[in-house]
Amino acid sequence: MYLYNSLSHKKELFVPNDPNLVKMYTCGPTVYHYAHIGNLRTYIMEDVLEKSLRYLGYPVKRVMNITDVGHLASDADTGEDKMLKGARREHKTVMEIAKFYTDAFFSDCDKLNIKRPDVVEPATNCIDEYIHMVQTLLDKGSAYIAGGNVYFDTATLDKYYVFNDHDEEDLAVGVREGVEEDLNKKNKNDFVLWFTKSKFEDQALKWDSPWGVGYPGWHIECSCISMKHLGEELDIHAGGIDNAFPHHTNEIAQSESYLGHKWCNYWFHVHHLNNETGKMSKSKGEFLTVSLLEEKGYDPMAYRLFCLQSHYRRNLVFSWENLDNAAQAYEKLVARIAALKEEGEIDQAAFDQLKQRFVGALNGDLNTSVAVTTLYDVLKAKCNDATKLAALRDFDQVLSLNLLSAAETLRKKQAEEEAASADPEIDALVAARTEAKKAKNFAEADRIRDELKARGIEIIDTPQGAKWRKV
Ligand code: AMP
Ligand code: ZN
Repeated sequence: MYLYNSLSHKKELFVPNDPNLVKMYTCGPTVYHYAHIGNLRTYIMEDVLEKSLRYLGYPVKRVMNITDVGHLASDADTGEDKMLKGARREHKTVMEIAKFYTDAFFSDCDKLNIKRPDVVEPATNCIDEYIHMVQTLLDKGSAYIAGGNVYFDTATLDKYYVFNDHDEEDLAVGVREGVEEDLNKKNKNDFVLWFTKSKFEDQALKWDSPWGVGYPGWHIECSCISMKHLGEELDIHAGGIDNAFPHHTNEIAQSESYLGHKWCNYWFHVHHLNNETGKMSKSKGEFLTVSLLEEKGYDPMAYRLFCLQSHYRRNLVFSWENLDNAAQAYEKLVARIAALKEEGEIDQAAFDQLKQRFVGALNGDLNTSVAVTTLYDVLKAKCNDATKLAALRDFDQVLSLNLLSAAETLRKKQAEEEAASADPEIDALVAARTEAKKAKNFAEADRIRDELKARGIEIIDTPQGAKWRKV
């Protein structure tokens, strides 16, 4: 499989450290509010990556954190703790907020067929691990204490901007949108590993540490949680593109300084879902959730298809019109699948040919839009329905669009509708009209049609015979 690696800025052949276990880490949600559909785009694409790896024969262990502490309003370590802000907004405790929005997140994931990672670890579970890593960084001279906080010293690194040759001035923490400069920092890119009460008096969750009562920085969470469950070498680290800087840049700085060797080989970044006003974000207040889409009558699968139709490395623009198009495409796809009959033997050669195209799409940097078009190739293929159904079932292990179950539901609904509208008297009249036509008694056939019309029944002549419906 070829994957674009943000670290090398190239598509690279994916070679895990151990082909018997791919170690994958994904940044989890900050649970101070509902996840918006932009966040969920990232989780859908990460889900497809994990399922593709499994489909291609790699066992995967995937770990994700739940950020329930330490993520401040600005990614640059300033402003209020997002969790505290959420708690205040809802007059609840931070842990109540965390529980409520963690459950809400997984309920959204279930609706979108996003598989739960093998390990899900709330950040507040790993305080000892953070303290250990921060202490080691201090011992190694990679960190320093100033104004009561512990900071990572970026001057100790050979290279800080690992993902990009960023213009230092553009990205300098001190000049990012309205962020005040932290005068404790020796270098503008230094970041907090451990906050103490000296900085945020009203922080709700605090723990004892060798540097005073306080709480961890956001970045340290992911390094420690990943190492706790996946060890010192990671194959893939995934997240939204906004996480590349400063979050992932800082994760690499502290992890590699701690370990003394390279930490993660492949960095997978999903680009943003934007709306007309720009990036969809929780902090902007108004945002779209899966529940809102459902309230408006959309099947969550339509949103999943909408995401799969575009490549993860392109920004995706959300509009109701675009979602409508995806919803219609989904309905049509399901209707075509519902018309297939589970008959005949699977034609293995035809199946393999279709599968080859599907695998080719996944192998080419997770090209889900091409993978989706292979569904139409299947429907058009010159093979029997049993082979088509087998291919669709197989591909849906990765795409997770409920293709076969939705088709089954549709078939049942159609059968129920037919049964509900059954009327032996009308069936008899329709049959009599057919007989009259066969006997070339067109006057009688027309009379019956007019009689039915007067009763609000329309006859439809189809290749399978005459059918009727109420108008
Ligand atoms: P958060 O809950 O803010 O920590 O974000 C959870 C995940 O969603 C992270 O991987 C972010 O990078 C990602 N994310 C945030 N905004 C967007 C967006 N508009 N489109 C896609 N992914 C996003
Ligand atoms: Zn993270």
